[in-house]
Amino acid sequence: MSYTNFTVETDADGIALVTWNMPDKSMNVFTADVLKELDAIVDQTVADAAIKGVVVTSGKSTFSGGADLSMIKGMFTFYNEEKARDPEGAAQKLFDLCGQMTGLFRKLETSGKPWVSAINGTCMGGAFELSLACHGRVASNSKSVKIALPEVKVGIFPGAGGTQRVPRLTNAQDALQMMTTGSSLTPQRAKALGLVHELADPDKLIDAAKAMLKNGLKPVQPWDEKGFKAPGGGIWTPAAAQLWPAASAILRRETNGNFPGALAIVKCVYEGLQLPIDLGLKVEQRYFTQVLQTTEAFSMIRSLFISMQELGKGARRPAGVPKTELKTVGVVGAGFMGASIAYVTAAAGIPVTLIDRDIEAATKGKTHSEGLVKDSIGKGRMTQEQGEALLALITPSADYNDLKDVKLVVEAVFEDRQVKKDVIEKVEAVIGEDAIFASNTSTLPITGLAKNSKRPNQFIGIHFFSPVEKMMLTEVILGKESGDKALAAALDFVAAIKKTPIVVNDTRGFYVNRCVFRYIHEAYDMLIEGVPAAMIENAAKMAGMPVGPLSLNDEVAIDLSQKILKASIADLGEASVNPEHMALINKLVDDLDRRGRKNGKGFYEYPAKPAKKFLWPGLKDLFPQKPAENFDVETLKQRFLVTIALEAARTVEEGIVTDPREADVGSILGFGFAPYTGGTLSYIDGMGVKTFFDLCEKLAAAYGEHFQPTALLKDMAAKGQTFYGRFDPYATQAAA
Ligand code: NAD
Repeated sequence: MSYTNFTVETDADGIALVTWNMPDKSMNVFTADVLKELDAIVDQTVADAAIKGVVVTSGKSTFSGGADLSMIKGMFTFYNEEKARDPEGAAQKLFDLCGQMTGLFRKLETSGKPWVSAINGTCMGGAFELSLACHGRVASNSKSVKIALPEVKVGIFPGAGGTQRVPRLTNAQDALQMMTTGSSLTPQRAKALGLVHELADPDKLIDAAKAMLKNGLKPVQPWDEKGFKAPGGGIWTPAAAQLWPAASAILRRETNGNFPGALAIVKCVYEGLQLPIDLGLKVEQRYFTQVLQTTEAFSMIRSLFISMQELGKGARRPAGVPKTELKTVGVVGAGFMGASIAYVTAAAGIPVTLIDRDIEAATKGKTHSEGLVKDSIGKGRMTQEQGEALLALITPSADYNDLKDVKLVVEAVFEDRQVKKDVIEKVEAVIGEDAIFASNTSTLPITGLAKNSKRPNQFIGIHFFSPVEKMMLTEVILGKESGDKALAAALDFVAAIKKTPIVVNDTRGFYVNRCVFRYIHEAYDMLIEGVPAAMIENAAKMAGMPVGPLSLNDEVAIDLSQKILKASIADLGEASVNPEHMALINKLVDDLDRRGRKNGKGFYEYPAKPAKKFLWPGLKDLFPQKPAENFDVETLKQRFLVTIALEAARTVEEGIVTDPREADVGSILGFGFAPYTGGTLSYIDGMGVKTFFDLCEKLAAAYGEHFQPTALLKDMAAKGQTFYGRFDPYATQAAA
């Protein structure tokens, strides 16, 4: 029998080697066709008496990434269509669909033929669930192999048997830890946990898998044997009595009840361990069906999986512009940002010329990379040779002539119009006709800076976030005259350094910082109202923000907030800034020298390590605090999310952000906007624009004009529209 996605070769010992190798895909993923073929392969191996056992592996360097996004997308579409047609029966049909993979894997493990999974490369999600259904698992001991059930990160959970088989192979605590965090395991760790049976050198992997079969591997899973007991001892043991109350508390602490997928994992394991496997699988299927119907799952999958991939693959790249050959890149300004930009560029294998005012400053910029490389070598993440090769790609210089061959220059000099003007002129005097100039300015409009350029259509903004090595997002800023070639080059560069881009039009603060400062300003308002500082920070975290607003302001630097407020006043007039905010910040910076973490004094105090930072007690004297009972924590949570989402809606209305995917992905990757919402606009769409509009009006009446909903929201509420409907990114693409 022949298959499109698999080959089946049976050797003289009667071992069928099933190799998963999808044509036209760089990675194997589960699709409806793959499931159908795998089902037929199980039937074939059962029917063929000559086949004594099966080894399943991958023909690619990775084993598989799990389910295909189009398959998951299809589940939502299926459910919504069914709901419209048959509201009563839709959930049952979704339940049946959710059981498809579970049923197939159960069929495989009870087929009577022994299966061994030979995990030759990274094995994620559904692919590891397939492996768990095999009777034996051998993993390659290569460093590049990662094993994970990461579904919780996109709002769902392992729903093809993962929550039942993992805790039947290892103790419940490690099972919960692995699945509720979605973190990756090395093959060694997976073996230590009992999740794989053997490790083998990459070139001996298939032999080891076959040997397992030849040594008489039983085609029966431990949980199908009579008298099976889970390794952790089930849930009626003294150890379990210690574990389960703590597990609920830890889950609450880590998720604030915001992630239905994570909660479902705990329920599946707890309930499943009390049941035989088939019933446990049913319980999992039931919770999976429930979670798939949540707004959180829908929005998280859309933003964190689908949109992120689409943006990463250049969804906004202008068609028809040839790929930019980034043979070398120039970075001008070897300070805090420039040094890191040079590092990520070299880490992507691109030679960089790193320019500063003098060779000492440029060389100092390179020492940043040397430190990072040393650290990586020390941690075993890089070999000595790799480190040396990376560093050899960075050439410090004070001579602008060294930029003559670059195709792209990223400017990261002082945030000063005159300094930037001078640099633009010097760079343009030497670079080739077709080279692109990109500024990393964080506050100066690109259109204004481009006025200093001889070729403003080859001028663009690439706004990095600090720390550059860790932050996945970059904002690409289009000035009024930035052309397609500049955009394509910027996106090609961002793709090469493996970051996710969002493309926004020019405005003060661009997209991310506009939203971030709304978050911080809401905290100023709360302080002024007398909300206890700890309550402000905790309410923000309960709303799903990773860092409290006061802590964030300390990281950003309070004197930077002061600079930005003053610049707004200078450029837009007094009315552009809340005078109480200005007074608060002036007091902290000018009178008290509290500038944030950088000088060890901000909204927090920073004692010497290992002591932890704590809220500065003097805040209570500056802003007398009322009892916490005076404030409703739900309202505080709402105020944070609404003020940010409303700012995002304004950027759409002003034409700054044109694609809802970018507002959503940018908000999560840029400042961690409550990920369970799917991002700023999904937060609005998720509750409905009308509900959001009403909420804004209510908050505006109680907390100020800045909550006043906008004309666009009013119009959308009246028409019953959503952001993804009105600004449908796929329609725009189709029309383009
Ligand atoms: P920085 O002061 O650490 O570095 C600036 C560097 O530019 C210094 O090394 C300086 O010697 C060099 N420089 C100044 N004039 C120069 C000239 N004429 N020719 C060559 N080099 C010159 O500043 P930074 O924090 O790295 O910020 C750089 C840019 O990045 C600014 O535009 C800033 O707004 C932007 N930015 C900063 C952050 C951040 O978190 N710091 C984030 C995003 C963007």
